[in-house]
Amino acid sequence: MRSGAPDLTGRTLLAVFAHPDDESIACGGLLTLCAEQGARVILLCATRGDHGGGTLDPDITSALRALRTTELAAAAAVLGIADVQFLDYRDAYLQATNWDLISADIEAVIVRERPDVVVTFGEDGLYWHPDHIVVHHATTDAVERIGPSGPALYYVTMPKGAIRTLVDTLRPRLADGDVPQVLGVTDADAFGVLAKPPTLVVDVGRVAARKLAALRCHRSQADGPLLVMRDDEAAALLGIEHFRRAPVGAEGDSFLDRLAAIG
Ligand SMILES: [Zn+2]
Repeated sequence: MRSGAPDLTGRTLLAVFAHPDDESIACGGLLTLCAEQGARVILLCATRGDHGGGTLDPDITSALRALRTTELAAAAAVLGIADVQFLDYRDAYLQATNWDLISADIEAVIVRERPDVVVTFGEDGLYWHPDHIVVHHATTDAVERIGPSGPALYYVTMPKGAIRTLVDTLRPRLADGDVPQVLGVTDADAFGVLAKPPTLVVDVGRVAARKLAALRCHRSQADGPLLVMRDDEAAALLGIEHFRRAPVGAEGDSFLDRLAAIG
């Protein structure tokens, strides 16, 4: 535990995302800082990311499911996440799933784990991924049903231009033929564009190398710039995380406000 920072022993943060790797790129730094200060960090992942490659071949999707589950366990260990839970919905099909069912599942986890804080995607789903947007709505509805006696809810958004800077900085080091994409997203400008302004900006530079290490645990996803980035570049390129307090859930300051004030 870092002296001067708040003791979060007994506190719980629940992060709700769609796929293995979302947690690391969205808020790997925040999760690390919370775990370091003693909070119990739980990750709820709606799918196991089994759609990568776009195939429905059951042998391939089942192998991918196992691989990405293993990769997420490794990333979780790097970030200090104590518990990874899955809802086991089909990757890439959340929009075709009954959103109320997804929301009810998320609510059940919140009721069981009693987190102080929940973090999920904002309306923009980081870069307009349809699965991410469903998780945003399903989580918001779940927290709203529980009401002010439940957790504080925060939306994670990407600082506008951060991924463009990352790609442009590292592009000269990519091998010929390497696509300058991040986690399979080829439009670097999609991250954070039109995101609403943050209410909480967290400097995670001190643990940014761990965030990078966690991203690289997702070996089937980590690509181009993430593979050539040096640890000493991580603070500049991955060191700021943006969050916005949701209008539902608990009111008043949460432990994230106290943590962010320390930096
Ligand atoms: Zn995702």
